[in-house]
Amino acid sequence: MSTTATPGRIAFYSSLIIAIIPAILIWIFSKNILWAIVVLGGGTVFGYFVINFFLERFIYRKIKLIYKNIHRLNTEHLSSAEYQKDPISSVSAEVSSWAQERREEIALLKEQERYRREFIGNVSHELKTPIFQLQGYVHTLLDGALNDPEVNERFLGRAAKSADRLVELVNDLTSISQLESGIVQLKQEKFSINSLIKEVFDDLELATERRKITLGFKETSEKNLKVKADRSRIKQVLTNLIMNAIKYGRDKGTVLCGVYDMDKNILVEVTDDGEGIPDASLPRLFERFYRVDKSRTRESGGSGLGLSIVKHIIEAHGQSIHVRSKEGKGSTFGFTLQKAK
Ligand code: ADP
Repeated sequence: MSTTATPGRIAFYSSLIIAIIPAILIWIFSKNILWAIVVLGGGTVFGYFVINFFLERFIYRKIKLIYKNIHRLNTEHLSSAEYQKDPISSVSAEVSSWAQERREEIALLKEQERYRREFIGNVSHELKTPIFQLQGYVHTLLDGALNDPEVNERFLGRAAKSADRLVELVNDLTSISQLESGIVQLKQEKFSINSLIKEVFDDLELATERRKITLGFKETSEKNLKVKADRSRIKQVLTNLIMNAIKYGRDKGTVLCGVYDMDKNILVEVTDDGEGIPDASLPRLFERFYRVDKSRTRESGGSGLGLSIVKHIIEAHGQSIHVRSKEGKGSTFGFTLQKAK
């Protein structure tokens, strides 16, 4: 049996209790059972309407106030059948779900605040090194080194390198903020993923020469698969992954790409036989500014933003990216793309 305290139910029971007293008195003193029943019935009906009227008005007004506060003046809920049937339970359920929503909102705001603080800290930390280096070289040159043929060209070259690094950092920061704010529009087109990989190999040929690293396709790789994606963004992804494979690969090593047909999707893999990544670092690898070996990777010029940009691009395509690695043996980064029909 339902035990909800609706205004109707409260009015009925309280008017019954009120009417029962005069009915009993009439029955005791006049012994007239008919009158007692009439007073009981009439009193209950009259009492019911009067109490119900005031109760509903009172509760309705108070509840409407609560609704106005939690729904910011949107009181359309008040006409719903559920609310009309049991306003007290409805309002209690709504208030607790409203409170839960606010709690989640506050937790999210706190998390965003923490992220914002961390992000600003990281950005200023990353900018500091190239700015101070640039400042140092320029001042040394101005203080006389400019006229010293032994060092002037070397210092200018280093200043230029620091400026290039600043530009690279700012470009990465722009990319990440555009991707995170969702203002990046993907230009979906059909293209051969194998041709795009070859194009990236050609672009990075110079980078491989110094360390004598060989670039190529895996034997098991498909020869020509077409995907539907934003070509320039996927080129950015491949450049980043292959560049990392070269950067963190070993001298005279090999970087191999594989392209596999997975029914609706295509799987693209980039494998190197380099230093690998410790298990503990794998879950954090795609975080902004995360580096496995901070001093060494910063020396090699990375911003620590590359993999998080890559992840954003792949996720903007509705696809996923993963990594497998064994320390000392090498790493494989794999991502999926939609197959072109
Ligand atoms: P970075 O600009 O420092 O290269 P990324 O976001 O591209 O930043 O990579 C984050 C970190 O992940 C790198 O600093 C490096 O420690 C590690 N990493 C990325 N790719 C590889 C790889 N192929 N082999 C080993 N470590 C890698």
